[in-house]
Amino acid sequence: MTFAGNGIGITRGIAIGEAHILQRGLLEISPRMIDTADVPAEIKRFQLAVNGARERLHEIRQKIPGNTRSDIIAFIDTHLLMMNDAALVEVPIKLIRKHAYAAEWALQLQRESLVQVFDTMDDPYLRTRKDDVEHVVNQIQMALLDLDDESNDNRSGKVILAQDLTPADTIVMRHQGIAAFITEFGGPMSHTAILARSLDIPAVVGVHSITRLLHQGETVVVDGEQGVILADADQATLAHYQQRISAAQSRATQLRNLIGKAATTREGVRVHLMANIELPEDIETTRELQADAVGLYRTEFLYMNRQGMPDEEEHYQTYRRVVEGLDGIPITIRTLDLGADKQVDGCTSYCCNPALGLRAIRLCLKEPKMFQPQLRAILRAAVHGPVRIMIPMLSNLQEVRKLKALLAETEAALSADGIPFAKDIPVGGMIEVPAAALAADAFTRELDFLSIGTNDLIQYTLAIDRVDDEVNYLYDPLHPAILRLIQMVITAGQRAGIPISMCGEMAGDPRYIPLLIGMGLREFSMQPGSLLIAKERLLQLDAAKLAKQTRRLMKRLGESDFEQLLGKICALH
Ligand code: PEP
Ligand code: MG
Repeated sequence: MTFAGNGIGITRGIAIGEAHILQRGLLEISPRMIDTADVPAEIKRFQLAVNGARERLHEIRQKIPGNTRSDIIAFIDTHLLMMNDAALVEVPIKLIRKHAYAAEWALQLQRESLVQVFDTMDDPYLRTRKDDVEHVVNQIQMALLDLDDESNDNRSGKVILAQDLTPADTIVMRHQGIAAFITEFGGPMSHTAILARSLDIPAVVGVHSITRLLHQGETVVVDGEQGVILADADQATLAHYQQRISAAQSRATQLRNLIGKAATTREGVRVHLMANIELPEDIETTRELQADAVGLYRTEFLYMNRQGMPDEEEHYQTYRRVVEGLDGIPITIRTLDLGADKQVDGCTSYCCNPALGLRAIRLCLKEPKMFQPQLRAILRAAVHGPVRIMIPMLSNLQEVRKLKALLAETEAALSADGIPFAKDIPVGGMIEVPAAALAADAFTRELDFLSIGTNDLIQYTLAIDRVDDEVNYLYDPLHPAILRLIQMVITAGQRAGIPISMCGEMAGDPRYIPLLIGMGLREFSMQPGSLLIAKERLLQLDAAKLAKQTRRLMKRLGESDFEQLLGKICALH
């Protein structure tokens, strides 16, 4: 029978593929009994699972290079020894025989009694050995449940199911050619979700318990637009989804006719449609789709899936390749926005609420040794094409001043070293903290441009963690508070005569473009895949009419006719 599940769709695409369940952390095992007649077969199943887990560990042990640290080798040897220990191998068999427990439940009970013993030990070292028990039990449980571990990487064409994925996982899996992913947790504005959209991976997040509800290898339909998941679907349903996949492909071909056409409203108001990029492959797409500029280059990519920090030369070579690859298309390089859901090795803040902690410009100003190589590299790369620099997560003017002082120092040091660099490159800031939006006029006096980061602005204004699916229902770009803040920033920019753009996900959503045009926004930056859809929408709009309607709407925020006025704006063409 068809299984249907719902979650939060975070991409436009649909995919059909085999389920591939990734298991991390402890498995949840429920009590299960078997028929007494099945006890011998169950014991056999348990013994096969132990052998399988042991073989897997042996294989890993053999593949370890000779120069590996001895403590790592000892760690694996300990686990191999534990897989021969009567406490783990024989006691569960006794439990199966005596109580007709399913093998995984018998093992789980034995795990719990062992863990309890470790918990009562006074010696802190011995207490930590509990982790070894957990690890070994997990390996055997995975073998029992026929779940895969991460060392098996044949994921091509598969639908990945996981409790959660990091942005770094998403990049690796894209290279492994996965068809789609489904996670139990995560929000649509998380960095993982943004990457999935940019990489065009159909995905649904926030589907609780999905890794336990579906089976390894079964065929799954993932509808990233509607947030729907279907398993074991009948032929007619599969044919329906195949047909939707073909329709989406035809639409993409048709949209390509807009490449090269100027981005203007119906009456000819010129609008800048810019790309958000982060991976090397985004450069090609940006050029191909003829974006007006890169409005946001997320540089955190350089820090993912690696150990240690990139040095100045690596930063420089990367930015230089990007700038040259864009062949004259202007680029705004955002300085490091590490922290919160963009954690990397060696630079992690373990505070209770990382989104409110030491992230982005706060972290960079606190760690100038980590930051300066990036600043030097950006100034050097700017010799090869038009570059602007943008500061993430500003909350006060001191941060702008400190950044500028650091830039001046960097310029002086580059001069002293005789290294070529570009002088006086424009410096802008992201408005993504409510305080910065409320004080936007002050920021316009000290910066050359502003860009509204709605992903964070909405998170901070509405007090909802962008990676938490439980509060995702509150994520509302049309909340009166958000619209007021956006309007304040646009107006501050118009008064000061500096460019204002928007680079959060709201900017690339065709539902909001008429309203933003009505508010006076003229620069939109979005993942490359949204550029043509945004252009198509823009070409239908009448900016003057929208401005009039929006002025009225802004006076009616939160009133009873608000929805109706909004509906009119979005329907205007
Ligand atoms: C934003 O917050 O809107 C933004 C563009 O930055 P990021 O999504 O990388 O935090
Ligand atoms: Mg942000």
